[in-house]
Amino acid sequence: MGYSEAKCPHCGKMNREMCNAYMYGSPIRTCRKCGQKYLNRRYREPAVQGFDQRTTDPNLYKKSGIICAALLVLAVIWYRFTTRNLGYYTNYQVGFLVMLPIATVGSIIQYIRIVSGSMDKANHKFLAESEERMKDKEYVAELLANGYKVPEKYLDNDGGENG
Ligand SMILES: [Zn+2]
Repeated sequence: MGYSEAKCPHCGKMNREMCNAYMYGSPIRTCRKCGQKYLNRRYREPAVQGFDQRTTDPNLYKKSGIICAALLVLAVIWYRFTTRNLGYYTNYQVGFLVMLPIATVGSIIQYIRIVSGSMDKANHKFLAESEERMKDKEYVAELLANGYKVPEKYLDNDGGENG
């Protein structure tokens, strides 16, 4: 969970909204003050733009987990060296010794979530919401007008003759 902030180009109101970690949602937002629509490209419409790579690629976390674990080993060696041989340690060292285990465990958790399919399940919930929005032809037209490459399956839902 997180927050997104965007200034409405029509009235200048700063719209602060709750959003999910990967900003899945409609890039066409509605201003809470003036009710007009504006574009926020930081949002990602899964039906059009696909899922964030950070939710589908376990190798990202495998790599970052290995890198963080390796850095942690180095940080421990460095800490032991300076405390034992030189008689001091710094706040930087303590910072590394706190942050690197968190980053390593975080990477492992994300890796497991992707490999086990629990992330996929979450993604499909967002895709279902996205496909619900895509049923609105006006909405699809707005996305197209803003340069989004809408997949064909969302375009010919009017029984067109170009079959
Ligand atoms: Zn506004």
